Amino acid sequence: MTSTTAQSVAILGGGPAGLTTAYQLTRHGYRVTIIDRHPIPGGALTGDHPHDGPEPFTVLGCHHATQALLRSLHGDPEQLELIDIPLEFRLHDSSLIRYPRAWFPAPLHTWVNLLRFAGLPWNERWRLASWLERLWEGDEGLPADLEQRTADEWLTSIGQGAKTRQMVWNPLARWLTGNDLSTMSADAFVTSMRPSFLSARLDSRISVSQGSLQTCLVQPIAETLTEVGATIIGNTEAAQLRYERDHISGVLLRDGSLLQADWYIAALPPQQLTPLLPERWLTRYAYFQQLAELRSVDSTILHVQAEQPCATPRLVLLGGTAFHSVLATAATPDRTGFSLITTDSQFVQARPDSNLETLIPDLLRSMGLLRLGSAIASSHRRTIPNAILSLSPGTKLHRPIQRSPIANLLVAGAWTDTGWPPNLESAIVSGNRCADALALR
Ligand SMILES: Cc1cc2nc3c(=O)[nH]c(=O)nc-3n(C[C@H](O)[C@H](O)[C@H](O)COP(=O)(O)OP(=O)(O)OC[C@H]3O[C@@H](n4cnc5c(N)ncnc54)[C@H](O)[C@@H]3O)c2cc1C
Repeated sequence: MTSTTAQSVAILGGGPAGLTTAYQLTRHGYRVTIIDRHPIPGGALTGDHPHDGPEPFTVLGCHHATQALLRSLHGDPEQLELIDIPLEFRLHDSSLIRYPRAWFPAPLHTWVNLLRFAGLPWNERWRLASWLERLWEGDEGLPADLEQRTADEWLTSIGQGAKTRQMVWNPLARWLTGNDLSTMSADAFVTSMRPSFLSARLDSRISVSQGSLQTCLVQPIAETLTEVGATIIGNTEAAQLRYERDHISGVLLRDGSLLQADWYIAALPPQQLTPLLPERWLTRYAYFQQLAELRSVDSTILHVQAEQPCATPRLVLLGGTAFHSVLATAATPDRTGFSLITTDSQFVQARPDSNLETLIPDLLRSMGLLRLGSAIASSHRRTIPNAILSLSPGTKLHRPIQRSPIANLLVAGAWTDTGWPPNLESAIVSGNRCADALALR
């Protein structure tokens, strides 16, 4: 391992990826400076609007890097207030159905759960279970062209009907990846399903935080970083990467000053990274050219608070509506907070807020999540531009690894090539990999 006594690192972007990199690097003795264009760090999941309030987040059992980071930040797991919740689907007739969780050893539990899941018609369930069995037995392999096909087309080819795709597989894909079945690649679909549905039983758990990402992850990391002398600077935007030969010599900030370090970590979304790159690198390196091929979509999160207590949190996936999921948690002892997410920009533009105010309570009431007499106390929506990486066919090849062709530049972010869909786990894995790449040189 290299001595790090004089080594400094500048991290551009204080979202989960940048914060994780900083946290791990300071443990190896690096001197770290993080800049973020927003006043407080935290990235996409932490609102900066006064009405944003705490946004609950979900962690899956298979998100091992996220859980390890949370454990390292909170010695006592009780402090985390993570509550296990079942996965529910709303079917065509508005009835809610739970995905079963059988306590059998892997892979038997997958098979038993699938056969017991009444969200799929019996013939489609049986077809899928037989296909899985052939896969496990090695009689059949996954097709080699999954990255070139859409998930919708592939699911049709293995016998999943239109209704099932609309009410089960599409909301599941949108919840796990933010992407629609009709636009995402079949490979991205399989890759996002496998860790939670086709592996160890505990990996299929879904937990929701009582606290927000800000209180569970961002603040504890920021406090640890401050204690060890790292610098976090808000309201500071990177404008350009300066270079000498094939090394970065500094980051020009929007205020005209220059930030210099031995190492640079770009923990920004691809749309914000590309404009910072020198023209020469964009023409010379395929690594950077490929960033321009990546596409992202906006995500809108709607928060509604109702005057009714929430005894147990609920997560319902919705087909056939613009919102793919609704998460109900206790906002206060007397109020339930509902978070609904959509990536359908046409829907959000077409509906003025007043329309949403009647539409959402009706939707919540139709599922029995909102009681008839319960009043809506507040509602607020927030659109996060380019929040979700589009996983369309061919995208896999364009997601970059952490090491760039520039010796002192590494790239982190949920959108990089981590093997995960663009979620918190992916951001944290990318941060860990950046830190390992420096610390284990
Ligand atoms: C509505 C919504 C709900 C979600 N819920 C969940 C969930 O429950 N569970 C889960 O696992 N994942 C969830 N995700 C996904 C998760 O939030 C993201 O994957 C994660 O935030 C990505 O982290 P990141 O650090 O890669 O990027 P970001 O969070 O986008 O952070 C990038 C940071 O860079 C900063 N920045 C950008 N440009 C510049 C610049 N030029 N100079 C300085 N700073 C700059 C930004 O201000 C930002 O803070 C959700 C996402 C959305 C949109």
